[in-house]
Amino acid sequence: MERKVRVRFAPSPTGPLHIGGVRTALYNYLFARQMGGTMILRIEDTDSNRFVPGAEDYINEALAWLGIGIDEGVREGGEYGPYKQSERRDIYRHYVQQLLDAGRAYYAFDTPEELDAKRAEIKNFQYDASTRMQMRNSLSMPADEVKRLIDEGHKYVVRIKIEPDRDVTVNDLIRGEVTINSSVLDDKVLYKSADDLPTYHLANIVDDHLMEVSHVIRGEEWLPSAPLHVLLYEAFGWADTMPQWVHLPLLLKPDGKGKLSKRDGDRLGFPVFPLEWHDPASGDLSSGYREGGYLPEAVVNFLALLGWNPGDDREIMSMDELIRDFSFEHCSKKGAKFDYEKGKWFNHEYLSAMDDAKLAGLFKPQLAEHEVNADDYSDEFIARAVGMVKTRINFVKDLWANCGFFFKAPEAYAEKDVKKRWKPGTDDIMRQLVGVLDGIDDFSSANAEAIVLGWIKDNEMHMGNVMNAFRLTVVGECKGPHMFDITELLGKEETIKRIERGIANIQPIDA
Ligand code: GLU
Repeated sequence: MERKVRVRFAPSPTGPLHIGGVRTALYNYLFARQMGGTMILRIEDTDSNRFVPGAEDYINEALAWLGIGIDEGVREGGEYGPYKQSERRDIYRHYVQQLLDAGRAYYAFDTPEELDAKRAEIKNFQYDASTRMQMRNSLSMPADEVKRLIDEGHKYVVRIKIEPDRDVTVNDLIRGEVTINSSVLDDKVLYKSADDLPTYHLANIVDDHLMEVSHVIRGEEWLPSAPLHVLLYEAFGWADTMPQWVHLPLLLKPDGKGKLSKRDGDRLGFPVFPLEWHDPASGDLSSGYREGGYLPEAVVNFLALLGWNPGDDREIMSMDELIRDFSFEHCSKKGAKFDYEKGKWFNHEYLSAMDDAKLAGLFKPQLAEHEVNADDYSDEFIARAVGMVKTRINFVKDLWANCGFFFKAPEAYAEKDVKKRWKPGTDDIMRQLVGVLDGIDDFSSANAEAIVLGWIKDNEMHMGNVMNAFRLTVVGECKGPHMFDITELLGKEETIKRIERGIANIQPIDA
């Protein structure tokens, strides 16, 4: 019988969610939605030493920004809760006891100093079948001694008892069968009495089982843990409900070899976090895609294609298309280079295709930042202004630099353009241009263009010099969208006012 698809994204709140973690969440979400399944968000906070305040909120906010919906979780609720591991202590205690009773796990009392001493004594020491009888645990010590130590409150851990020399196979949807010999595994700690908390391995498996997780989709860095997880499923007697394993390819540095790290982002100047992050301990600020002016749709599209492809050459894909076409068959085994420039390209494409009115909404805060009252302009004016420049930019935050002149007449003029385009006599030509513009009744782009260009030609003036001086007075520099689209939107009165200001304020600069 086909199992109901239930997947989980299980981050540990130890800091801001890394962009690789975001991709893991996204693939879980795409698969869940495609299969009509359930997407769980489980907070794995059993490592109290690494807990960072604010990290859980950050995870929620980042997923919400990207449109990665959660069906069951701390905020959403659900029938399999609690969804935060620190609230599930009783459950773990019960299952640790089950393994102890079944002889699949044992108590160990070795102190850190004793373990260090053993490591110094035995090269490549591993706590396993070959060494455990030399250690202080419930397998090597008499039962009454074990009971006494526990009763007296001595600190202990519970370790899994790995049977040596067995082949353990992890069946992975991307990697195929991965088999290792159990002798390479150590008797991992499952529970620590010191803080009455399980370790990641135990909590993760118990929860995946109890939450009826059908597919464990996670980063490749967890593949080495998978054989132990298979053995835990068996030890609990849950082998027949073991989830399908899926380990996603690593995200690699944009240059060179190795895993993408925060340092690469700092070094090459790109964010590795979805949202800005203020580190509460160090006070450091790390940049985020959202604050960097990225559109969530572009980030989703970019991440989806890092390690997966649709099997054809499509690149621009909406969330709905990704949900429809996602498949593990087209996930690569090889790591995916984090091509940051490609991320910019995606953002550029999404900005270019964005509805002007929607983009105008994203632009409005920049008007306020520059002390422009958005209410002085119609929505249509703002939409047309951003619409004229949207194909020229990569980020929303670049909008002001490219279309701010629609809202604020230039106060200064680009020096290099003045040098090149404003000569003695240019003021006189601009005065004549004012006369020409003043006589135009239909100030639409095409009509104004025909008349002005006709005037330039008839008077045998230099097209480039006249048009660039004109642009300099209106925009403040010699770049921007089509000149007559600009003047159409500004209107005749404002256009002429700007030329006159230019005449009054621009002086030729001697080369
Ligand atoms: N808590 C682990 C993490 O932080 C989860 C790994 C898994 O998905 O099993 O990534």
